[in-house]
Amino acid sequence: MNIQDIITKAGGGHRVSADEALALYVHAPTHVLGRLADEIRSRKHPHRIVTYIIDRNVNYTNVCVAKCNFCAFYRDVGSSEGYVLGFPEIFRKIDETIEVGGVQLLLQGGHNPDLPLTWYEDLFRAVKDRYPDFKLHALSPPEVIHLSRLSQISVPEVIDRLISAGLDSVPGGGAEILVDRVRRLLHCYGKATADEWLDVMREAHRRGLRTTATMMYGTVETMEERIEHMIRLRDLQDETGGFTAFITWSFQPDHTELGGAEATGVDYLRTLALARIVLDNFDNLQASWVTQGGKVGQLSLAYGANDMGSVMIEENVVRAAGAAYCMDEIEIVRNVEDAGFVPKRRNMHYDVLGDPIFRERAVPRMLSLATARPDGSAGEAPDVKSYPARSRAGKEARR
Ligand code: SF4
Repeated sequence: MNIQDIITKAGGGHRVSADEALALYVHAPTHVLGRLADEIRSRKHPHRIVTYIIDRNVNYTNVCVAKCNFCAFYRDVGSSEGYVLGFPEIFRKIDETIEVGGVQLLLQGGHNPDLPLTWYEDLFRAVKDRYPDFKLHALSPPEVIHLSRLSQISVPEVIDRLISAGLDSVPGGGAEILVDRVRRLLHCYGKATADEWLDVMREAHRRGLRTTATMMYGTVETMEERIEHMIRLRDLQDETGGFTAFITWSFQPDHTELGGAEATGVDYLRTLALARIVLDNFDNLQASWVTQGGKVGQLSLAYGANDMGSVMIEENVVRAAGAAYCMDEIEIVRNVEDAGFVPKRRNMHYDVLGDPIFRERAVPRMLSLATARPDGSAGEAPDVKSYPARSRAGKEARR
């Protein structure tokens, strides 16, 4: 099939195969990929609405035993730079999030052997007691697997316990590229194989949770492997229908063991457009302005994205790897409107909540992103010390 036939097929609403997707990526000019992705986006979202959510990306700990070689965020067990946030610190972050119209926490962290499942359950329950309507979009699949291994109970049981404690949805982090050859090279095969990552999502979907899916590209994968990743997500979406959205970003190399160069903006736009074409059963694609910057983020709206992701009051992981873009609600709305779209606030299920909050009431401007701790200090919060530690360093620190 020649390129024009594939473009006509995808434009007509028909599914493309892996080979066809590869041919498009290799041979179609960037503007043609963009036009096709935009056509598909406008069919799914005909009213030119672009959504975003106000939430806060809280990383409860940076201590991690996984040691992925693309990660600049983690610290070893026993490191003087390791931290675990306390419940009062997390409550303060929720208060600040609500003040600017936020509706949820995106809660993710390292695989800390000294935080047992009960710590997460207590945290979720405490959050729901204090803020019954506030949502917890928490713990990516590798974190769920880590808790399953740490507690020696099955993944479905961990998910059930987290749901009982207040888990509302599962973020799609830790997917990187869902191909085990790549995962081995990135030292993330141990934290979750491709099948294990997909199985956590399958179990979450079976229990009625909606989740997102992500892809971090630009490390050691081939283009065929990027497409294999998309097809594996598409297959699971056919099976469960549980994914709300797909988010892709490029590897941020600074301060990582893997190192290297960052993928270009054109590669990002082509990959995003290809995702819109391949993932015909995903409604929503986010623009990753946090890694690509506001201008490429805005351009993403012409390459298949229909959502600006999160206003993101706080960010620690991408910043550790050298990217620190910040846009508050006013800036996101300015970019969306300037691109000819209508900005709307949404919740985690992509239901529209309303117009920009700053047009309804005065909210403080956020011209820089918050960090895990305002003063950058390390250490475990005092309330963590009542939980049993697993590591030798953790046991000694909690004596
Ligand atoms: S990416 Fe996540 S799991 Fe991997 S080392 Fe960093 S914090 Fe740990």
